[in-house]
Amino acid sequence: MSTGTAAAQSLVDERIDQLLAGTPEREGPEFWGAMYDLGLAWVHFSEGFGGLGLSPKYQKDIIARLRGDGASFSNYQINLLGIGMGGPVLSAHGSDEQKERWLRPMYTAEEIWCQMFSEPGSGSDVASLSMRAVRDGDEWVVNGQKVWTTLAHVSKWGMLVTRTDPDVPKHQGLTYFIAEMDSPGVEVRPLYQITGEAEFNEVYFTDARIPDSNRVGEVGDGWRLTLTTLMNERVAIGSNVTPRGSGAIGDAVRVFNELGVTDRVKRDKLISLWVEAEAMRLTNMRASDHRKKGVPGPEGSTGKLHWADLNKRITEFTLELLGPDGLVLPGGYTHNRPSLAGASGQTVQRAFLRARANSIEGGTSEVMKNILGERVLGLPGEPRVDKDPPWKDVPRS
Ligand SMILES: Cc1cc2nc3c(=O)[nH]c(=O)nc-3n(C[C@H](O)[C@H](O)[C@H](O)COP(=O)(O)OP(=O)(O)OC[C@H]3O[C@@H](n4cnc5c(N)ncnc54)[C@H](O)[C@@H]3O)c2cc1C
Repeated sequence: MSTGTAAAQSLVDERIDQLLAGTPEREGPEFWGAMYDLGLAWVHFSEGFGGLGLSPKYQKDIIARLRGDGASFSNYQINLLGIGMGGPVLSAHGSDEQKERWLRPMYTAEEIWCQMFSEPGSGSDVASLSMRAVRDGDEWVVNGQKVWTTLAHVSKWGMLVTRTDPDVPKHQGLTYFIAEMDSPGVEVRPLYQITGEAEFNEVYFTDARIPDSNRVGEVGDGWRLTLTTLMNERVAIGSNVTPRGSGAIGDAVRVFNELGVTDRVKRDKLISLWVEAEAMRLTNMRASDHRKKGVPGPEGSTGKLHWADLNKRITEFTLELLGPDGLVLPGGYTHNRPSLAGASGQTVQRAFLRARANSIEGGTSEVMKNILGERVLGLPGEPRVDKDPPWKDVPRS
């Protein structure tokens, strides 16, 4: 739909009014489902698939207006990987049948999604992955192992990249599927992190069968879909625009005040971290505005890198403030398997431990620097000797 600004705004307003009048709920599958049906879930997606075909710039206002009316969007936390990454991939590359099947229960968080890209030998260089999918009639037989799969233990569906042709260079032989996590031959095992929580898992595929109808995009086109997914992941991780003084820096200020710290050096450090956090927040706001206008600037690429570093430094500082108390985990050290990702920041001690992962998850800081060097600063690329030979001829451990 091509709609002028005034017409688009009035369509959005009309749909919001319809939503609020149609249901007393302001949270939960019924409310989020009604949002989807009215095209307010992902407003830039096509009509009939959770959107109105409008510019994504309207989404922020929709959420803000609904929040003002008491709405809550815990679906974004519960199904972070689905709504943040799976939705955009399906919208860009999925068939109408696939969108029809998967998008609505994804948005309502009735079906949770995970992302199965990393393998024991392929993380930063995900294009080198080994998991094999071999066609057998209308199905694919899949064998191999994935690792670090966040929330696989609560997921119904997983975005899966596999190698379908080992005879071509690594980027060309990949194919993208949606795997059903409770199907025979798929085994999910917990991996416990330093926090004691197992947010993520190892996932083993042993002769698991995936119908060809669950293939997204063409055979051999998996790398393009992988890039769409990763692009959305980095934006989701690094560019969150949070309220001023909230999150890790808010905790640091709270602990500083609760302890009645009078040390001037510590106060200076807190202020300089606060200023950095605020500068990052404002940069993210600018980046988010640029993205909405369709001109993503370098701020977006720097967001993930800087956020990872700053979050670590802030959580470290808060622990320093606590002194010996910072060494003790309130509630003790227990093993559990949470159903939300990155939620271990309920105490500053756990937040400190969880922050260690920030410079690894969603692409390491070193890899972010490579991307910035090559794509933003235009520096020469690093040597890539494994890019052109067939994947099967490249030595790997
Ligand atoms: C909390 C968390 C959640 C995650 N969730 C998921 C998930 O849901 N799904 C999923 O698929 N993956 C997930 N991951 C995996 C994550 O994407 C990988 O850990 C990450 O991409 C790094 O890969 P790797 O661990 O194999 O490290 P490697 O790629 O082996 O890197 C090892 C070290 O070498 C450095 N390095 C590698 N290549 C280069 C280079 N070219 N130049 C300079 N330095 C380099 C790295 O920076 C790193 O320090 C998660 C990771 C974490 C920590």
